[in-house]
Order: sequence, then C-alpha cells, then structure tokens
Amino acid sequence: MPLPTENVGSLPRPTTLQQALAGYDAGTVSREQLQAEQDAACRDSIERMEATGSAMVTDGEQRASSFATYPLTDTLAGTGLAPNLAADGQYFAIFADGHHRQLPRLTGGPFRYQTYAADYLAKATPVARGPVKQAVIAPSMLALLYPLDTEIDGYPREQFLADLADEAEKDIRRCFEAGAVRVSIDFTEGRLALRNDPDNPWTGRGMLAEFVALNNRVLDRFSAEQRRDIGIHTCPGGDLDSTHSADVDYAELLPMMFQMNAGYFLIQLASESDRERIYALIGEHSRADANGVPQVCFVGVINPQDPRIETAEEVRDQLLLAAQHIPVDRLGSTDDCGFSPFSIDDKPKHGSPDFARDVAFEKIRSRVEGTRLASEQLGI
Ligand SMILES: [Zn+2]
Repeated sequence: MPLPTENVGSLPRPTTLQQALAGYDAGTVSREQLQAEQDAACRDSIERMEATGSAMVTDGEQRASSFATYPLTDTLAGTGLAPNLAADGQYFAIFADGHHRQLPRLTGGPFRYQTYAADYLAKATPVARGPVKQAVIAPSMLALLYPLDTEIDGYPREQFLADLADEAEKDIRRCFEAGAVRVSIDFTEGRLALRNDPDNPWTGRGMLAEFVALNNRVLDRFSAEQRRDIGIHTCPGGDLDSTHSADVDYAELLPMMFQMNAGYFLIQLASESDRERIYALIGEHSRADANGVPQVCFVGVINPQDPRIETAEEVRDQLLLAAQHIPVDRLGSTDDCGFSPFSIDDKPKHGSPDFARDVAFEKIRSRVEGTRLASEQLGI
C-alpha cells in the first residue's frame, strides 16, 4: 500500500471572509451574509484541495473561529460566546513574534460545547466528491478554561473534567456519524506544556502528564478499530507565520506523546533543523501496539509558515530518509500544521491571506506528488 498522506485541517481564510467576520463583530454584516461567505470559502477549499490529488480533504475550517475555540465562540472577538464563559481567560500561547492568543474563562457549570465539529462536517460532505476528514480540539486544551489554582463555586474541577471528557468524546463520535473517514485531535498544547514561559503561568507546571492522561480518558472510550482512524496532531504552533514552542526539544515530548492510544500522529517535522534525529526518536518511541492499534506516524514534509513551495522531490527525499528510521507500514506524510489555525490571520510572511491560500494548495500538491514518488521508490 502506498504511503498515506493527510492534511491537518485549516487553510487561510480569504480576505473577503476575514472582512465579513470583522463586519459581523461590528454589526454591519448579518449572520446570513457571513454564512454565505463561509459557504463559498468552504466549497472553494474542498474543490481546490480535491484538485491537488488529495485522497481526502477538509473544508479548511473556514467556519471555525479557530481550531481550539470552535466549540465555544462564533468569532475570535467573542461574538456568540457560549454560556458560562467570559472572554478574559488565560493566554493559550505567547508566540515567538510577541503576539498572543487568549482562551475564554469558565465562570460556572455545566460545561457544554455550543458547536461540534460535526456541525461543519455535515455541510462539507455534500460538497465533497470523495472522503472528508475532520480535526477536533483536544480536551487537554479546553482543560485550560478552568482557573489554574482556584475552584469555581459549585462546579468542582473534577466535575468539569468529567463533563469535558464527555463532550470531547461526543465531538469525535458525531464526526464519524456525520461521515468523517478520519478524525485528528489537535494537541499543540503538548509541546508548549514543556516550555517555561514566566509570562504564561500554565506553562512550566509539568502539565504534560495530565494532558496525556485526560486525552487517553477520551481515547480509551473508543475501540481499537475506531482508534485506527483517530489521530493526534503535534506542532510548535502556527499563527501569523510564527510559532510558540519551536525551542522545546522533541526528545522531551515524544516518549510521553506516544503514550496516547491513538492510531496515528500528524507530526511537525519539515521546519525542524535536525530531522533525522527526530525520525530516529519517532522510530524509537512510537508503538506497534497501542492497546490493539499500531501507531502510524505521519511526518511533516511541508512548512505552512514559509511561502516557498517545497518540491515533490524534496518531499520524496524527506520520506525516504524517514523510512530508514520508521517502519514503512507505519509511515505517512502530512503538513507541519494547519495553514491557518485561527480565522483572523494576515499571513505576514506571505504578504496576504489570499496569496497564502494559493501557496497552500501548491504545497499540498507537492506533498501528494512527493509521497507518491517516495512510495514508488520504496516499492510499495
Ligand atoms: Zn499545528
């Protein structure tokens, strides 16, 4: 079987859609007008991703406020914020270029998703000609909605975590019910958990182990057969062409990360300085049997933060080197991250989100073609 290849999820939103979101927040654009822009952007995303030769596509997350906040709010500015939340939560991340992104703050229980990823998927599958995948947010990210050190009156942390696990499970199950062939869980906070940023109090507290345990609490509710198609995405972040934890050594993350009983992993790698060392770590720490399912490792061969388009031959060569360290039957290719995990992203290194969008499809095309070339060379 040829090496599998899969994208993470998001694409840059067209400028017109980002303007419509701003207008919706300002009250000058109606919900219907915004939805018309989202419908058009989703259709365009699916059609252009299919044109790259991708075996499976996403809608580019064009309807989501972000990869992390879609269950909670309609826009990043907080329009349509779910009940029991306030806008002034803790930083999720402070990025290398100095900008930050903030989460809402939980003010009471019960915690419920307002939007499930399957709500988007239900609108994407009728447009797609072939299989569709869906990304969901990890419960470990949404655990950060609860205050770090204090208990919420009448809603103990343990009750919140129980509700959160139920909601995350429901989010994944609904995706499969709505026709997703694969569901990948965004786990960008995993690497960030190993950073110690004094300006961002939740980092540096050794929270990775509890993140892994919480995610396993959800994964373990699925059968081995189901977990074959449930993945985990890891990366050092990707927003405004900047990252939040690229300085954290993978050697600290990978042994813990592969303790999660997922069937596959989408791993940022193209932008690493010493890829071969990481391939070797993946070969060493990924498991052939994670509670009944082999862990397939999709290595990043495309850097969405860099406007330069990788060639198919570069992609092929990265995979051939990876195949020296990772069993070929557990190897695949991916992009390092979504191309724009947050809805409002002007892609500064690209010059504009519209240009970045064109670049993204060309990069995906290179990944698909380079993965085919590598499979050919490997004789599979
Ligand atoms: Zn990512």
